[in-house]
Amino acid sequence: MTVANSIPTFSPDTDPLDVIRWALSAYPDLLMPSAFNLNGVVLLDLAVRAGYAGEVVFVDTGFHFPETLATRDRLVARYPELTFVTLNAGAHPDDGQTMPELHQSDPDACCAARKVQPLQAYLRQKQPSALLNARSREQASTRADIPFVEEGVRVKLNPLAHWTREQLEAYATEHDLPVNPLYFDGFISVGCWPCTRAVRPGEDARAGRWAGKGKTECGLWAGEGRL
Ligand code: SF4
Repeated sequence: MTVANSIPTFSPDTDPLDVIRWALSAYPDLLMPSAFNLNGVVLLDLAVRAGYAGEVVFVDTGFHFPETLATRDRLVARYPELTFVTLNAGAHPDDGQTMPELHQSDPDACCAARKVQPLQAYLRQKQPSALLNARSREQASTRADIPFVEEGVRVKLNPLAHWTREQLEAYATEHDLPVNPLYFDGFISVGCWPCTRAVRPGEDARAGRWAGKGKTECGLWAGEGRL
């Protein structure tokens, strides 16, 4: 998939709203996956302000914190103009989708089965021309170079690429967004409960994900199975 013919001249200071507005005109069928972290909640609000009224797709791995599912439910109530889709709804740790404790022995395989495959299958069915994504450069060294418009298996639009955590927090406060309460306990990036710990002072925002496992990405945005 290639990027649209004419990309405006964006700069690091370009307002994310302008990037989203352009994205909606260039890729009207774009789709928005989300795990409802701080970045995701901010992007969702900006997208609605820009006129997005499509799907927000969440994958239930069966290992989400109750606070994450409650955050999703608060967003569903707040944005009736959006269609929230939960893939693998009702998954739970003993549902047989993966071997017990696979998240300990082989987290890549667990993420592939419980997170990447359900979303890949949905995207094969929907065939969106682009994905709206909430990653920002500051989140991790592996994300330090992401552009607003990212070519790849699918075009990814990353309107928050240049926003700092301070900007995201300020936006969330200003607009009274329903941020996952775990965020305020140091869970700056919240994934599944067996694979997430609070971030310590001075660490990357994503340092609490798969800590000690030598793994930094779930596979949705990096690696062979990336979206
Ligand atoms: S984050 Fe952990 S529990 Fe969740 S899918 Fe990946 S390995 Fe499995």
